[in-house]
Amino acid sequence: MKLSKEIRTYCATCKKHTVHTASVVSVSRKRGKMSTGERQKSRGARGHGGHGKFSKVPVSRMARRSKTTRKIPVKLACKECGKASQRSIGRMKKTEIKR
Ligand SMILES: [Zn+2]
Repeated sequence: MKLSKEIRTYCATCKKHTVHTASVVSVSRKRGKMSTGERQKSRGARGHGGHGKFSKVPVSRMARRSKTTRKIPVKLACKECGKASQRSIGRMKKTEIKR
């Protein structure tokens, strides 16, 4: 779905409807150095014993998922006060901001 670059909606700081600039929030961001799961998995490389749940063939997260779309968070920044907020705009496969 194509979103318009500017949306007129309520701003909680200004306490009225103002023009907001919309941008799609990027979701994937690598956190920290090594997650618990990554540490568990690397223990398997030590040598002794089975690898626990890592002995099985991995099933991708997408295969376990029943839904084919995801909820899209949109970052809305108020043009008057500059305050930004996030809002979900419902389920869709693909989003892009109109030029
Ligand atoms: Zn505002």
